Amino acid sequence: MSVHEHEVKALLAGAGVAVPRGVVVGDDGFDRARELAEPLVLKAFGPGLVHKSDAGAVLLGLRAADLPSAAADMRSRLPDLAGFLVEEQAAAGVELIVGLVGDPGFGPVLLAGLGGVWTEALRDTALRLCPVSESGARRMLASLRGAPLLYGHRGAPPVDVDALVKLLMTVGGPGGLWERLELGEFELNPVIATPSGVTAVDARYLPAESPAPVAHRAPADFLPLFEPRAVAVVGASSSRPNFGNMFLDFYKAAGVPLVAVHPEADEVAGVPAVPSLASADVDYALVAVPAERCPEVVGQAAGVPFVQVMSGGFGEAGRPELEAELVDAARAAGTRLLGPNCMGVYCPRGRQTFVGGGLGPAGSVALISQSGGLAGEVIKVGERRGLAFSRVATVGNAADVTPAELLRWLARDPETQAVGLYLEDPRGGRELYEALSAAELPVVLLVGGRSGQGRRAAVSHTGGMVSDLRIWEAMAEQAGVTLVAGQDDLIGVLAYFQAHGSRAVDGDQVLVVGPSGGAGVLAADAFDRAGVRLDPLPEDALGGLGVAAAGNPLEVPVGPRGRPGLVPEVIGALVRHRPYADVVVHVNVQAFFTYGDAAEPLYAYARALGGAQEALPRTRITLVTRNGECAPAGVEDEVRRIAGAAGIPVYRTMEAAAVAVAAGGRRHGTA
Ligand code: ADP
Ligand code: MG
Repeated sequence: MSVHEHEVKALLAGAGVAVPRGVVVGDDGFDRARELAEPLVLKAFGPGLVHKSDAGAVLLGLRAADLPSAAADMRSRLPDLAGFLVEEQAAAGVELIVGLVGDPGFGPVLLAGLGGVWTEALRDTALRLCPVSESGARRMLASLRGAPLLYGHRGAPPVDVDALVKLLMTVGGPGGLWERLELGEFELNPVIATPSGVTAVDARYLPAESPAPVAHRAPADFLPLFEPRAVAVVGASSSRPNFGNMFLDFYKAAGVPLVAVHPEADEVAGVPAVPSLASADVDYALVAVPAERCPEVVGQAAGVPFVQVMSGGFGEAGRPELEAELVDAARAAGTRLLGPNCMGVYCPRGRQTFVGGGLGPAGSVALISQSGGLAGEVIKVGERRGLAFSRVATVGNAADVTPAELLRWLARDPETQAVGLYLEDPRGGRELYEALSAAELPVVLLVGGRSGQGRRAAVSHTGGMVSDLRIWEAMAEQAGVTLVAGQDDLIGVLAYFQAHGSRAVDGDQVLVVGPSGGAGVLAADAFDRAGVRLDPLPEDALGGLGVAAAGNPLEVPVGPRGRPGLVPEVIGALVRHRPYADVVVHVNVQAFFTYGDAAEPLYAYARALGGAQEALPRTRITLVTRNGECAPAGVEDEVRRIAGAAGIPVYRTMEAAAVAVAAGGRRHGTA
């Protein structure tokens, strides 16, 4: 069902949006149009007339006297039309599109861009989750490639940008139309902007039933999940070792008090067994039995605060009813459910684990992952790269405990200083956005399976230009969260947060220092791509240090025969001139090893940088070991260890360092 254009325009006028003066007429009564100022526009409306121009249902530049014959002609071509809207023709200007879509996961989304007939071809639009702030609305316009058309282009006067911002706020700001509409899709295309104001000359509204807003419960106390007094494993076999047995082994190695749940056996693999969860006195139960049996098992978990269902075969396998049954069983038992279809929880300080190879060090980095396998990789690879985790939770289908609920708890967890998220499912998007906006600690987000495609079923231009990918991007920007493109950057940004997250820095300047002009040029490109500005150095900042050309990136020789203290001296001198929030030091590892084994000079250099970091507590130093593959095995690990002990994160590429440094500068959202 679509609402007629003149009805939407009445709604807009009531909300204070300028629309052309007009009258609605049937097949006659055109003399009522005489009070309108010519030139006039004639538009037909009726069922199915969504894109009017395509149907030949819009005529511009008419005189009042032309109307009856023009209308009769339209009528003959469009037998189903229900009536006509005659309106004044607005003066030409810059045509924009302003739209809303109700996203099933993220809720109402505002779109603004260059519009009119070119909308789809230009694809120059910006997105924000509603409500948008006034500064957010201004930034939307400024971010358009075609923004110069608004601000005065080639001698043309600027359009009334303030009026445009006001219109965006009326549609998508606090208390705006988005709150009153059933979205669906809503679109003003075009809005004509001129130096003296903005007019919505077309309006389209396709209502749809909006999903009920999610009820926020106060987050559970997740401490017993991460640091359980005791753990139960359901599903380990006394005869044929399976997944459950593997978890029993992991837990035995971790040393947490453990019980197995088994219908007959008194013990499983040396672990005492009880017949059902009802007789297990534990804080956490891991369930690894076939999907069909899970609801029954979970139904016996009364008194166990957290149950994790590892098994797959629920919603993700086309069986949503079984998943609903599982959730009902958990509710009835009064337990909170993780999963189904996940791996479990990892927390060294709580002896919680789902990975082999023993527990890593306890630390301050948390991870919430929809994929258990990916979480396992991030733990193992991350620990090898020096990460130390506070809490890791895998949530799989997130049928009960959601990433947002965990995030709200982690944001107040004294052990957690930074959070990584791996998500695939935009369903809980709005709840997540709210949790991210409220969280004050740094967060990095990796989203898998983002599609750049607009909604296929969309009727409006807006719907066709809103994709999951673009909403995730908008959400990340609004919440001040770094969105990364792959697992390596997820770990890299977490390493940066771990090393530098608690460092209070001065200013926002970034300096890049290292050998080789070419590498410096490429570094500049890498930082530019990551959205990090490298300002030129202050004049005369390097007097007396014997560094030839002063640029940023700054070329300073570093090699096996160089003085390890030179770069620290240069950094010290520059920071005395002007505070630097970040100094990225790069080194060509290959140069240390081409003519023999020169590991020691490289270590000496890393130690010298450690000294520099200690001397400059308000600057974040980051090291890039370019061409590290040229070093013998173990050397990079040792460099990472030396630097890490001094609080310096290490990257193998400039690109990875640039992403991390960009994340460090992006801590506050721009809703
Ligand atoms: P549709 O998008 O359904 O094809 P519109 O109402 O947007 O129909 O009209 C098509 C085009 O005609 C608009 O993009 C705009 O350029 C122009 N137009 C429509 N109404 C007016 C008006 N009142 N004043 C000026 N131009 C108009
Ligand atoms: Mg239109």
